[in-house]
Amino acid sequence: MRLGIDLGGTKIEILALNDIGEELLCKRVATPKEDYAATLRSISDLVHSTETELGVSGTVGIGTPGSRSPASGLMRNCNSTWLNDRAFKHDMEALLGREIRISNDANCFALSEATDGAGADAATVFGVIIGTGCGGGVVVNNKLVDGPNAVGGEWGHIPLPWPQDGELQSSPCWCGLHGCIETFMSGTGLADDYAREFGYRIVAPEIVHAANGGDEKAESIVRRYELRLAKSLAVIINVLDPDVIVLGGGMSNVERLYTNVPAIWSDYVFSDTALTRLHPPKFGDSSGVRGAAWLWG
Ligand SMILES: [Zn+2]
Repeated sequence: MRLGIDLGGTKIEILALNDIGEELLCKRVATPKEDYAATLRSISDLVHSTETELGVSGTVGIGTPGSRSPASGLMRNCNSTWLNDRAFKHDMEALLGREIRISNDANCFALSEATDGAGADAATVFGVIIGTGCGGGVVVNNKLVDGPNAVGGEWGHIPLPWPQDGELQSSPCWCGLHGCIETFMSGTGLADDYAREFGYRIVAPEIVHAANGGDEKAESIVRRYELRLAKSLAVIINVLDPDVIVLGGGMSNVERLYTNVPAIWSDYVFSDTALTRLHPPKFGDSSGVRGAAWLWG
């Protein structure tokens, strides 16, 4: 049995999968915010209660915000900031009395969709989360590509490619750089673009809804979003040449992206063909927790 845990900012979810990926049990608790020791205990309690309920023990994989620095072993870049600079993997292993595997939530998403999701038939899968932030993960032959820096697939903090005049200066990113892909491709980025253009703010789902209803202002912003997404993914195609790109996060619900973005990216892909397929996720919000379980492949 594989146990996957999705450690989020508001909830901790555990999912038990059997050997063929069927869901045996799923439960969630609220994340003890700002309390590291209580976060460890909550995860440990979930593992023990699940194993008691099912009568078997399992492997444990955990999807985290941010990632573990290979150099120091400490967590970094977590928006759940009470995890940062903590030896989370070491402490969790001590508490559970066994080896665990951890990876960041975008990697878990990519692994889930590549294993038995929207990219199950593909050799190379790039999984993208475009929600409140922007993350990515690379899976080749069902294995995560996670190198010496543990940043494989982190496309959110490179500058928007093929920028137009002034585009890179418009968007300061929380990471300290300017013009990062995340500042355009997250749902917040879409809302920011609308606010910059028209001087007032509406949220991303309203912009998409208005565009689909024929509103010209919203349509112009969604078209610009599609162009930017196509350019950003064309860079991934030029480097990695994936068979399938799977979108996740809130913006993956925008159906028109799956038609419009591939129609644009062929202008930027360095090839006479652009056969990479763009798919919505099969497992939606459960992909993170499923991928955490699949960390033990
Ligand atoms: Zn950035």
